[in-house]
Amino acid sequence: MVSALSPYPLAWLRTLKARLMLASALVIAASVLVSASVLLERVEQRSEQAVLDREASHVEQMAGMLGQRVVMLQKMMRGAAEQMPDAAYQDPAAAVTYLRSRLALLQALNSVYVADASGRVLAVYDGREARPVDRNLAGSEFFQRTLAGVPVVSAPMRGPADSEAVVMFTVPVLGAGQQVVAVFGGSMRLDQRNLLDDLTFDAHDGQQRATTVLTDARGAIVAHPLRERLMADVAGEPLMAGAAARWVEQGRPVEPTAIVWRADGHFIALVGVPGADWVLFRAMHDSELLGGIDQAHREAMFWALGVALAGGLLILALLTVLLGPLTRLRERVRRLDVDNSLEAWPEADGEIGELGRVLRRALLDRAEGEQQQRALMRKMSSVMAAAPIGIAITRLRHFELVSAEWCALLGWPAGTLTGWPARDIFAAQQDYDGLGPKVAIAFARSEPFVDELEFRRRDGSHFWGRLSGRPVDPVEIEAGTIWLLEDVTHQRTERERLSWSARHDPLTRLLNRAAFEDRLHARLAAGADAGAAVLLALDIDHFKQINDSAGHAAGDRVLRDVAAVLTEQLRGGDAAARLGGDEFALLLGSGAEGGMVVAHRLCEALARLGVEHEGRWLAVGASIGVAGLRADPDADPDADFAAWLARADRACYEAKRAGRGQARLATPAAGVVAAAD
Ligand code: GH3
Ligand code: MG
Repeated sequence: MVSALSPYPLAWLRTLKARLMLASALVIAASVLVSASVLLERVEQRSEQAVLDREASHVEQMAGMLGQRVVMLQKMMRGAAEQMPDAAYQDPAAAVTYLRSRLALLQALNSVYVADASGRVLAVYDGREARPVDRNLAGSEFFQRTLAGVPVVSAPMRGPADSEAVVMFTVPVLGAGQQVVAVFGGSMRLDQRNLLDDLTFDAHDGQQRATTVLTDARGAIVAHPLRERLMADVAGEPLMAGAAARWVEQGRPVEPTAIVWRADGHFIALVGVPGADWVLFRAMHDSELLGGIDQAHREAMFWALGVALAGGLLILALLTVLLGPLTRLRERVRRLDVDNSLEAWPEADGEIGELGRVLRRALLDRAEGEQQQRALMRKMSSVMAAAPIGIAITRLRHFELVSAEWCALLGWPAGTLTGWPARDIFAAQQDYDGLGPKVAIAFARSEPFVDELEFRRRDGSHFWGRLSGRPVDPVEIEAGTIWLLEDVTHQRTERERLSWSARHDPLTRLLNRAAFEDRLHARLAAGADAGAAVLLALDIDHFKQINDSAGHAAGDRVLRDVAAVLTEQLRGGDAAARLGGDEFALLLGSGAEGGMVVAHRLCEALARLGVEHEGRWLAVGASIGVAGLRADPDADPDADFAAWLARADRACYEAKRAGRGQARLATPAAGVVAAAD
């Protein structure tokens, strides 16, 4: 039964069949046990009631018999008393004669005697001999009660002749005037039980073992299976103690109706013996009476287990037959990995058949779905292959799908990048590290991510690519990202070139006027805190002559030479520009004096420039106007930079007028101070 596919030896227990079998066995066992228990409980209750009733009638019967015997005895004694001649209670010899005539009484009693009304015993006869005794009963309670004219059964007591326990039976002897003239009595030894002999005190009651104890009205034991217990209190009896306590609590009733109850594993019955004022206690172990019930309990348990086992096996057999289609269906499903065909599915009715059909339908749908998916994939691959742009899909930072163009851009053969970590195509680790947060921000705004980044080809060379990405599924970002990549190295270079041209003079490669004005503007906006600044406005002297004599190209060359001289003077943060024609400007990070020092140095250097033309040296030079930064926070920065430039220009003009080849410092009040050369 253990499946070859199961890795666990007890796997069979997990099958539906085993579970149903176990559940059924449990249900059978439980129902057998419960119904047997309920049944036995009822039987036990009824049996107990029957036993209680039976015990009650049994002890009542016993007590009745006993009472009858006592009454009979008393009747015989009363008859004897009535026939007693007067002499018998006056003369001991007559008393002896009389007692001898009463032998029949001695079958029930151990001795008989006559006492006169004063209590003097005249004679005692025990069946063997009659003898006078010197005894007086006047002090005895039973004698006094007899004098009241009623027959009496005494409490158990020690006999006068020996120490044996006895009870006394007495009847009054009445005279002519119905007065008590004597007492006729007899003693009965309790250990000999003449009267009580067949009361089965320790008897086998059929197969049932019972203990019977007889007490007087105060609880002193009158009859007991053990001699030594005679006269003891019934409360000391191990089996009777509880019953005796209840009897005492109820005021020691001596009723002819039995009381029976069950306690400490016993049925206890007690009943009064009318006439004798005795009480009969009887105890019987309940197993004697109900033993069959316990046995029945054990048997019920045994049968419950047996029936459950048999039922479980029967159900297993039935399930094996009934669930055969399910087993075949499971086997078929297990073979799905190797056999995906739609054949060999078990035919069955009911739920199993339905399950099989649903499974087969689901497989059919799956096959169709896979086919559609493959077709879709083919189309998608064609689209990707045809796209003039690189397309890739990544998931969990790895390429899942990569187009041929994507591979081509990176210098790899088509198909090679699938499964690779995305990180491998980036030129710089930090670009890759920064990508995640930027992409997350863009996607969170439902915008595509677009950026230009440097990528590394297979041969190690780099290129600039525009990378744009969108989530495959905007709702489920984990589904992956679709990326487009195109090489923008050329556009980028072109863009950079255009941007450079807009800010520079193409001939000298210095900044142009617009760019230089921006620098001035920025410097003014930075304010006095940014430190000292000085502006040098420079115009080449006699430049026209170069153009006119040596030609425009020579003029251009001179312009480039001037630019080179100016560039040499620059330090970090300084700027040099060609403002137009033969006008140049410098922005230096020093005070006006420092600016003048540079201006002088430039005048000297530029004076050495020129071109040779037809054997003549055509020299140029430069006039320079120097204007320090005037900190005026209230002034409009735009107006101020123009004014700053104008001041420098004016100073330059002054230098021209003063003879050229020299520098002039603009005064703060817009005037110009001539500088000594
Ligand atoms: P001055 O000493 O007073 O400055 O006289 P100048 O000869 O230098 O004459 P000016 O500054 O007034 O004239 C500048 C000339 O520069 C006028 C123009 O023909 C020439 N020029 C302007 N742009 C260019 C250029 O790009 N290339 C050449 N070769 N010449 C230029
Ligand atoms: Mg000039």
